[in-house]
Amino acid sequence: MKVYVTGHKNPDTDSIVSAIAYAHLLKEKGEDAVAARLDEVNDETRFVLKEFGAKKPRLIKSGKGKNLILVDHNEVRQTIDDVDEAKIIEIIDHHRVGNVETVEPIDFEIKVIGSTSTIIAERFFEERIPIPKRIAGLLISGILSDTLLLKSPTTKKQDVKIVKSLSALAELNYEEYGARMLKAGTKLLDKSGEKILRTDMKVYEKNGVKAAISQVPVVDEEDIDSVRSKVRESLEESCDDNDYFVHLVMFTYVYKGGTELMGCGPGLGGVEEALGKEFENGLMFLEDVVSRKKQVQPHVMRLIQKS
Ligand code: ZN
Ligand code: ZN
Repeated sequence: MKVYVTGHKNPDTDSIVSAIAYAHLLKEKGEDAVAARLDEVNDETRFVLKEFGAKKPRLIKSGKGKNLILVDHNEVRQTIDDVDEAKIIEIIDHHRVGNVETVEPIDFEIKVIGSTSTIIAERFFEERIPIPKRIAGLLISGILSDTLLLKSPTTKKQDVKIVKSLSALAELNYEEYGARMLKAGTKLLDKSGEKILRTDMKVYEKNGVKAAISQVPVVDEEDIDSVRSKVRESLEESCDDNDYFVHLVMFTYVYKGGTELMGCGPGLGGVEEALGKEFENGLMFLEDVVSRKKQVQPHVMRLIQKS
């Protein structure tokens, strides 16, 4: 039985490397597993794949007749369009419980942990399957990317522990490597507003009401002044074209911490209320916020639920 292991649309590094690593684990166990992806990889992931000599997962456009394992997501909006035509046989994730349905019982592991890569690494250790250097390097990248170098409040002790064990295997200085990796993914100046907005964007839907949150890590703080206006322009277009109740952009400062928020849509007043702060000139600075999943998305979900 052929199985495709895929992460979410608009893939981030965690989605891509956990698909590659889990497909490798399954192949080691004798299964016919293929790492897959739903969209083009981002600049950070391209850097990671090159660094460890790994190939991009296979691009799949239809789930029809395929056996799928979903990693790093479990929401209909974030998976393959015709998911109803596919057979989902397993889910491994670290997000809220979403709305993907299955016909039969399946293995479903959701953990409150920094990345899906951490869960996959644990599987290797538990099942005593050797981790090649290349896979160790990829998994480290997934963890460091999702946890913003282990600094996000989503980071758990286990993430740190696994990064250290994997670094020994990969013979890698993870701090030095992580800084290089983030820098490769955050060259903002030469990208269009649209590209900056879409590189790491998630769409949520409840009762037909849609919302989106984009996150943009900022490494070089000088860059941000020159990108705000082009992002603002693309953001307004996005709200008009997609009828989002709210679309937020989080500019998250990797080194100094905190997030600058920009937004559009009729739900903005509700966002201000939920966060207890107001937009000034269309911007709001949130000192302690760096995690979309933990610190922003829950407010947005509550907002679209009651709208
Ligand atoms: Zn992800
Ligand atoms: Zn993830």
